[in-house]
Amino acid sequence: MARYPIRVFGDPVLRTPASDVVEIDAALHRLADDMLETMYAAPGVGLAAPQVGIQQRFFVYDIGDGPGAVVNPRIVATSGEWKYDEGCLSVPGLYFEIVRPGLVTLEGTGLDGQRLLIEADGLLARLFLHETDHLDGHLLLDRLDKRTRKQAMRIIREDGLSDEQSPRHVGSR
Ligand code: ZN
Repeated sequence: MARYPIRVFGDPVLRTPASDVVEIDAALHRLADDMLETMYAAPGVGLAAPQVGIQQRFFVYDIGDGPGAVVNPRIVATSGEWKYDEGCLSVPGLYFEIVRPGLVTLEGTGLDGQRLLIEADGLLARLFLHETDHLDGHLLLDRLDKRTRKQAMRIIREDGLSDEQSPRHVGSR
């Protein structure tokens, strides 16, 4: 297995909507393994293909219940509202309190070619929304209110992005 460098904010690949995966082949299985290895090493709980420079609609995750992978995911239903401190491997070191739906239904295909329909709440729902955002070229910075976003951009401009420093919470709480 191999590790990819993780693309960070400023890299245009993170702003480009990804294309559908057309075939679940050996290369995609290898990509899944490498992305999981990259994610665990980071460490993180989710990683979308554009974050390693690959413009395909695909992500891997593990919130502690074992690894998962979803091909061509689509959020088909959402409900509720939940505020949670969210971070992103592509915006390292910064955390933001973001409101998102608390319950989601995700449709997609598994690596085995089987159709997936997953109802998720809590952290898993959050992860599905965050990763599908990546596939549409969106970052968590786009989910911030104007003031917090400005504050985040100033920090990024002045201090740069690094996960070497202690985690920094941006915005009001
Ligand atoms: Zn992310």
